Amino acid sequence: MARLIMLGPPGAGKGTQAQRLCAKLGIPQISTGDMLRAAVAAGTEMGKAADSYMSAGKLVPDEVVVGIVKDRLAQDDAQGGFILDGFPRTVPQAEALEEAGVALQGAINVVVPAELLVERVTGRVTCRDCKSMYHTKYNPPAKDGVCDNCGGTDLYTRSDDTEEVFRQRLTSYEAKTAPLVAFYQSRSLCHDVDGVGDLDEIQARIEAIVVSLQG
Ligand code: ADP
Ligand code: ADP
Ligand code: ZN
Repeated sequence: MARLIMLGPPGAGKGTQAQRLCAKLGIPQISTGDMLRAAVAAGTEMGKAADSYMSAGKLVPDEVVVGIVKDRLAQDDAQGGFILDGFPRTVPQAEALEEAGVALQGAINVVVPAELLVERVTGRVTCRDCKSMYHTKYNPPAKDGVCDNCGGTDLYTRSDDTEEVFRQRLTSYEAKTAPLVAFYQSRSLCHDVDGVGDLDEIQARIEAIVVSLQG
């Protein structure tokens, strides 16, 4: 049973690869970014509180995110495995996961040099309907403006995918999230994956790790 997390800076390809792997394994992709954006769009109290952090490229407070993830992991479809994408992002979040008794099989750390990230993030477009991710240059949909997965025609650019907000997100990553690499290394759970290359190539690298973890 796969119980994995994706680590890596904004734009590393965590979401893209988590989506592919989850489809293949038939397990849910649990993306805190997607859940927070849904709360913002729905205008809930939590969404309103999260919005100011997200649009500034800052991390949403740990207690908010930990609460969302605990609720999500308690749902039926997560009992047969899951991939956490974008969580944990701080050491206290990782500790909360351990304290909740969630035994991870591994952390996939997608390694991409910082200079490649800005172009990935500023070219990212997402399908409003099914959340499939594309890149205007590196991974465009087969038909311009139409989602390959669901046929949706609302491919949008996230409001935080500007160069300016990206810089702040990268700063947050380096200060708060990068220490998780050492955290998971010390538990022998961290598996680095070279995140430079085409999508299929990187997927194959990740699958090789996942297979080794099941064995
Ligand atoms: P990316 O895919 O670019 O890494 P995400 O969609 O994961 O971005 O996250 C978008 C924003 O949502 C973050 O900049 C942050 O404000 C918030 N966020 C997502 N996950 C977390 C988390 N685990 N802890 C705190 N904030 C989070
Ligand atoms: P993350 O979830 O880590 O923020 P995403 O999976 O959303 O990253 O990818 C960010 C952007 O980069 C998307 O537009 C995606 O299509 C593109 N992308 C993902 N992997 C690659 C890759 N290996 N090479 C080029 N572009 C990529
Ligand atoms: Zn779609």
